[in-house]
Amino acid sequence: MEYGARERLNAARVDTVGQIAALTADLHGVMAAAYVVATDDEHDPEGATIAFERAQVAALLDQARQRLADLDDALARLDQGSYGTCAGCGRPIDPERLVARPAARTCITCAARR
Ligand SMILES: [Zn+2]
Repeated sequence: MEYGARERLNAARVDTVGQIAALTADLHGVMAAAYVVATDDEHDPEGATIAFERAQVAALLDQARQRLADLDDALARLDQGSYGTCAGCGRPIDPERLVARPAARTCITCAARR
């Protein structure tokens, strides 16, 4: 397999784990703020902003968790020897695509076909 794939996946994994920790802390912060607002005044207009912020942080957290699952999956494929092979057509994935998206499962052609 092309040099550096595991290093890239592991580096991306470390970044993603850090993002998940930061977003989880953010979410707790937003929820703590929501609790204070709710206690202060149920009709505080800030409540809507906090709900929006909370939804945004929760969405980012979902994305980061998905990315982590994709990276773990890519590492498993690396161990099995199927990493870098398109799951759609079975042809090798362009190495440049793997640099840009280390967890990619499909070549650009198959990704565009979805
Ligand atoms: Zn393909």
